[in-house]
Amino acid sequence: MNTVTRPSLGKKSLLAAAFGLLVLAGLTVQPAFAEERAKDLFGAAKLPTATAPQSFGFYSKGCFSGGVALPMDGMNWEVMRPSRNRRWGHPALIALIEKLSRDAASDGWPGLLIGDISQPRGGPMLSGHASHQIGLDADIWLTPMPDRKLTTSERENISATLMVDEKTHLVNDALWKPMHTRLLKRAASYPEVERILVNPGIKKKLCDTVTGDRSWLRKIRPFWGHDYHFHIRIGCQPGSPACKGQEATPADDGCGKPLAWWFTQEPWRPNTNPDAPKARDLMTMANLPKQCQFVLDAPGPESVDAVTYRGGDVPVAVAEPDPERATSSIGVATLPASMNAFTATPEIGVPVPRPRPSGN
Ligand SMILES: [Zn+2]
Repeated sequence: MNTVTRPSLGKKSLLAAAFGLLVLAGLTVQPAFAEERAKDLFGAAKLPTATAPQSFGFYSKGCFSGGVALPMDGMNWEVMRPSRNRRWGHPALIALIEKLSRDAASDGWPGLLIGDISQPRGGPMLSGHASHQIGLDADIWLTPMPDRKLTTSERENISATLMVDEKTHLVNDALWKPMHTRLLKRAASYPEVERILVNPGIKKKLCDTVTGDRSWLRKIRPFWGHDYHFHIRIGCQPGSPACKGQEATPADDGCGKPLAWWFTQEPWRPNTNPDAPKARDLMTMANLPKQCQFVLDAPGPESVDAVTYRGGDVPVAVAEPDPERATSSIGVATLPASMNAFTATPEIGVPVPRPRPSGN
């Protein structure tokens, strides 16, 4: 290509010219400079790796091995949107969900409707969440489970209940029940649960109404969306040295100034650049921890059944905090004031707000 010798052409034009030639030649292979998107590779994985459970990287930039599936039904839960194949997690998270379902039932919650957990090998998702990548995040509906087994079609199509008024950002008082508060309190009570993401209106409702022990409010973090479901995040588990933890939440209840910010115009400004691609749409394997290529290539189990959680003694623990690992993350409390619901994904630390998928 003699264009290479022409100094008037910038690098970009050269790449464009090269790409044009490839297209003209009818080549189906991707040009070397357009690496495959990580979300397509991880989104295509049907089964986890048949290796030890381990999380690599951060909640919004990583993957995991040794995942197990939450069964479609339990005594006190039902998995929603089964076609997404996102009922996979680190065994410690799956065990925790099972425990929460039992404890919540004894608190009077009729049962959990389980939303997205992770893809079988984690990684960025084809749609939706920025986080949920390392098997340590799970969405649970704020709608209680009905007292019957839902059909597959119902699980795909039933909508969760919107708990928050979209204009005022306040909880709909006709819908919010003491049992919602008890459920969130129970979820926050486990030491391994580090954060629970909820809509700011829900955080405010808790701030305004919880009496007695308020220490658990520290873990309840306001964030965009999360008005149909709440999001549980557990810490890095033992055996995952390459898992990047998130900095601890501030010790106070978070009901003061940081919450007041959510009730200003600032977080809700219209998107000035609605077409800007999201981080998950741009990530290539080069952006993920290098172990994620091995995770992608590792052999899988014989069947889904072989890696479906059966209960029992899966250890759930809080990994020893490692100050060196925790420094690069940003807490939600430290969000810059210029951020709004459409701000691009920060490098690390803040789960990106997302357009609400219907019924989620
Ligand atoms: Zn979530």
